[in-house]
Amino acid sequence: REAEEPPLSFETTSPEGTHTFGEILAGVLQPGDVLCLAGDLGAGKTLLTQGITAGLKVAGQVASPTFTVLNVYEGTTADGRDLPIYHFDLYRLEHPAELAEIGFDHYVDAGGIAIIEWPEKFAEFLPEKHLWLSLKQGESATGRVFELLPVGARYRELCEELKQVAHSCD
Ligand code: ADP
Ligand code: MG
Repeated sequence: REAEEPPLSFETTSPEGTHTFGEILAGVLQPGDVLCLAGDLGAGKTLLTQGITAGLKVAGQVASPTFTVLNVYEGTTADGRDLPIYHFDLYRLEHPAELAEIGFDHYVDAGGIAIIEWPEKFAEFLPEKHLWLSLKQGESATGRVFELLPVGARYRELCEELKQVAHSCD
């Protein structure tokens, strides 16, 4: 029986480190990618998203979407093409029908980057292929651990690429 690979994980010791990890992650993203950011309130999902959008050269501040289900940002790829980012926060949604109401599937299939906070609330209704990131408290108050679980070949490839570039975020 084949030995199972240990989960890919990264650690940061500060909010700045998490932002940097987001910027590095942005560098390996491709149009159509889906990122599910799971973790408790205050884990750093929105901060990680801000790092990703900074890496994709979104102009201006990215607000915490705690009271907004969807924010759309205009990013730019490394080779200068427009790349929309659909940032969902499903925290306040209660029923799967609400996903349809906000056009969830439409946006996820629109060829941009989809970033989903609170994916665990609607796990069965998410795209089958995705990168699942679990954000957890680290050893210190400002320590965070990111566990990455790729579902599908595209996301295994993304993780391989990320291993090459994300050695240290602090
Ligand atoms: P979430 O979206 O998961 O609820 P936020 O990103 O909005 O979380 O907030 C994370 C909070 O935790 C921020 O106040 C941030 O300053 C703090 N924090 C402390 N250390 C870290 C870290 N290493 N990474 C991310 N956030 C951190
Ligand atoms: Mg948040």
